[in-house]
Amino acid sequence: MKYIEPHGHMVSRTTDDYEKMALAGCVAICEPAFWAGFDRASAQGFYDYFRQITENEPKRAARFGIQHYSWLCINPKEAEDLKLADDVMALIPEFINRPNVLGIGEIGLNKNSRNELTILEKHIQLAADYDQLILVHTPHLEDKLKGTRLILDALKNHPEIKPERVIIDHVEEHTIDLVLDQGFWAGMTLYPQSKCSPQRAIDMLEQRRAERLWMNSACDWGVSDPLAVPRTMLEMRKRGWSETGIQRVVFENPVAFMGQSPKFLLA
Ligand SMILES: [Zn+2]
Repeated sequence: MKYIEPHGHMVSRTTDDYEKMALAGCVAICEPAFWAGFDRASAQGFYDYFRQITENEPKRAARFGIQHYSWLCINPKEAEDLKLADDVMALIPEFINRPNVLGIGEIGLNKNSRNELTILEKHIQLAADYDQLILVHTPHLEDKLKGTRLILDALKNHPEIKPERVIIDHVEEHTIDLVLDQGFWAGMTLYPQSKCSPQRAIDMLEQRRAERLWMNSACDWGVSDPLAVPRTMLEMRKRGWSETGIQRVVFENPVAFMGQSPKFLLA
């Protein structure tokens, strides 16, 4: 069965991982710009990173018949340095029209600091100015609920940003209703050791009838599993989900959200 990995940091993965994902049925991977596991020294480092996720990763993915899309921003962790953040955001217009770029992301908050909020606001304005979709990272720390509230408030300060064009990722049981009840999309991130397990994700899918929800593996530089989505599909079968129900979550929902960008065209 085919599926989409809607949030994968493939710059951290080997070519073997691309092959394994293709064998498991992956047809498209979407890569938000994020922290690379270390703080970059200058905006030039981001220039090359943006080239990597708009030029190089699409070629690596294509070798396995996978389409690759990306999102652009400076992540909240490195956005603590306001000068660096402004310099990186100034690069985005040069890349925003590249054929695999779907929008601005993953923006959001890490420690809910004042500087992070300032840069979050600027990214939202950038998305509004260029009429882009938004992908949001919510904090993994104990402040997830507070951070999610701050992010939703910042988004609602921009009436020109429609909630159905924004996905709030890494939701958990205590934030999912807040996000979905206000019309936004929500993503659940499946991590092997922490955060959301397949069982918890399926519970949330069942409670919310899988509406405006997707699942991803993040598959970043840390402990993570690029096959977390197909593993959860197996678990869904064990729990009695129909093939059409599974396909809706792992394929049709990501297509419905990302298809709002005219560039998201599955071959
Ligand atoms: Zn991420």
